[in-house]
Amino acid sequence: MMKILFADKFPVAKQNMLAQHECHNQFDLNADELPTAITDHEILVVRSTKVSARTIDAAENLQLIIRAGAGTNTIDKAYAAEKGIAVCNTPGKNAAAVAELAMGLILALDRHIPAATADLKRGIWNKKTYSVADGIYGKSIGIIGFGAIGQACAERAKAFGLDLHVYDRNGKLHGSELQKQLGFTTHTDLLDLCRFVDIVSLHVPLNNATRGMINAQIIAGMRDNAMLINTSRGEVIDEVALLDSLNNKNLRAGLDVFCHEPNAGNAAFVSPVGKHANVIGTHHIGASTHQAQQAVAQGVIDIINSFIAGALIHRVN
Ligand code: NAD
Repeated sequence: MMKILFADKFPVAKQNMLAQHECHNQFDLNADELPTAITDHEILVVRSTKVSARTIDAAENLQLIIRAGAGTNTIDKAYAAEKGIAVCNTPGKNAAAVAELAMGLILALDRHIPAATADLKRGIWNKKTYSVADGIYGKSIGIIGFGAIGQACAERAKAFGLDLHVYDRNGKLHGSELQKQLGFTTHTDLLDLCRFVDIVSLHVPLNNATRGMINAQIIAGMRDNAMLINTSRGEVIDEVALLDSLNNKNLRAGLDVFCHEPNAGNAAFVSPVGKHANVIGTHHIGASTHQAQQAVAQGVIDIINSFIAGALIHRVN
């Protein structure tokens, strides 16, 4: 029997599959409360709650941290490894959900759906303004980060008639089976790719190499009337540079993620980029579909069962 702490929302019905264990649900814990709550739990399950060195130091019996999702930048993985604690994630389980949102942001930007809806709710009929859209069929999309979500986005973009371009930083995608299947063009130079396409969609993890990778030069190089879609992590874009370009050139952005997002589910949040007229946005909800949450929860249960059987799946540290 394991003592498991769930520090973020988790489908309770799925926990029936862990009936032999002692499961404690404290779904509203924040990063500062976690060191006190962790006590002698052996397994910790989190979504977005940060797991700091302080939590790891405070844990008496912790053996496994599970990130119910893909991105693990919120967990001090190196320190956990130093302490002999494994960190695992559930890759690919939310890929369809995030890719669906990326496509939603593209379509919403093109057809001005958020602004049109707001007018409709305010009792305004404004067909003239909202009849102005380009359409996306035959346009080009550049996908940066070609893992589970990038590929799911490519499949969907292809179905919309978009011409696929992929950032191939180490040349491994060129000539691959995946390239044959999906029919994309590879680019080894990020700036060249971003200069070339109508839509840039970001699907990289946040790490030292990707922090600020969409910098002033890249944003300035984007085509007139281009779209920048970010469902990865806010810090992948230099937001100061983005704001500057939004003010000085014809650029649109669809963002699910921002720099300095609040830790809590409900909070005041004033983002200069998020407020810009050429930006539409959502509240970091890419993976938040029922389907994705069920799939992720099953992934967490699979990790726990394997761990108990003596194997670790999807270890990231
Ligand atoms: P993944 O690991 O399957 O894919 C990431 C891809 O990025 C890999 O192919 C990797 O090689 C590539 N990559 C890493 N560093 C790169 C670099 N410097 N340049 C180019 N490519 C690089 O992960 P995934 O499941 O596709 O998720 C991608 C990211 O999306 C996550 O790390 C997370 O930050 C974000 N995400 C956001 C939400 C949301 O709610 N908006 C939900 C899930 C995931």
